[in-house]
Amino acid sequence: MSFSSLGLSSSLLKIIAEQNYNKPYPIQNEAIPAILQRKDVLGIAQTGSGKTASFVLPILELAQNKTLSRNRHIKTLVLVPTRELAIQTADVFQLFASSLPKKVKAMAVYGGVSINPQMMKLQGTEILVATTGRLLDLVASNAVNLSEVETLVLDEADKMLNLGFKDEMTQIFNLLPKNRQNILFSATLGSDISSFRDVLLHNPVLIEIKAESSDIELITQTAYHVEAERKGPLLRYLIKHLNMTQVLVFVSSKHTADHITDKLNINGIESAAMHSLKSQGARNEALQKFKKGKLRVLVATDIASRGIDIQFLPYVINYELPRSPKDYIHRIGRTGRADSPGDAISLISPDEVHHFVVIQKKMGKRITLIQTNKLELKGY
Ligand code: AMP
Repeated sequence: MSFSSLGLSSSLLKIIAEQNYNKPYPIQNEAIPAILQRKDVLGIAQTGSGKTASFVLPILELAQNKTLSRNRHIKTLVLVPTRELAIQTADVFQLFASSLPKKVKAMAVYGGVSINPQMMKLQGTEILVATTGRLLDLVASNAVNLSEVETLVLDEADKMLNLGFKDEMTQIFNLLPKNRQNILFSATLGSDISSFRDVLLHNPVLIEIKAESSDIELITQTAYHVEAERKGPLLRYLIKHLNMTQVLVFVSSKHTADHITDKLNINGIESAAMHSLKSQGARNEALQKFKKGKLRVLVATDIASRGIDIQFLPYVINYELPRSPKDYIHRIGRTGRADSPGDAISLISPDEVHHFVVIQKKMGKRITLIQTNKLELKGY
């Protein structure tokens, strides 16, 4: 299959080629024609599968033939669980929209930043990517009207439910016209998603992409056995010794994130922390800098572990293990994506060894622990 056989126009094909998307990913092969035919779609797929482009491209194509929206009446609504994912998804819309003959305005709205600039920018917006709380605030202030929405996308619906957004989502659904196209993406198809599916989707095209196992094969996993108090020096040793220029480090608390970041910076390794106590502005800035390769280390709690797409991220380090094996897979899944290999390194203290065994069992993969007690870490 090639992109040109999927029903997309030449201006979109041109920018797809410029992005070096040589051929469609499996999810794109199936979702693009279905969405162009205005069918409902249920996609079971992870980040990394190419799911964003699988809805962005056909939605932009359909927007080419639509009349302009009435002021503040949105035509396409994309709901996402996190602010970062909202920004990232709107960026993909804007990237592909930039070369289209008919201008299509897409923007992201999310909480944690002042509402006024978002209200002003909404003028003329056709495609809105939103987190639920901020969207409801904007509706309440008449800054946006959802009564003419033609397409609804729920991205990472399982995550939205896990984060407790069900009531807000239901409130939003009640503001939408009954007759519309629905597209739902979820990493898993649990019972909560199934009940959602029955309410929302009409004869959906079901697309199931098992991305995780193949992605995991792309990732080289290494684990170091290290005393808790030697983790900091070992981290700095590895970053320097392996000449890491772009590394995402996961920790389990905000406090540790700040502490490690300070230590790295003192030791001449430029880094920034990303966690929920940082202002949204600071989080965006750190992520943008990191994505552009202008920040060597991003130290993050699990808010950054899902949905964040950083192209060709070469290294992920688990400074501490996450509680759930699922989160471990999501964390290391930030590397080894889109057909490019990556390295995931875990620092395992003696009291984490047992938990690491559980994670390996769940993952179905064994990782040898490398001993570090003989490693000289003075000066790091
Ligand atoms: P997503 O699953 O939407 O987060 O996409 C994962 C990554 O794959 C992103 O960096 C995309 O830019 C990239 N990507 C999506 N589709 C393709 C494609 N057909 N060819 C190459 N890269 C792609």
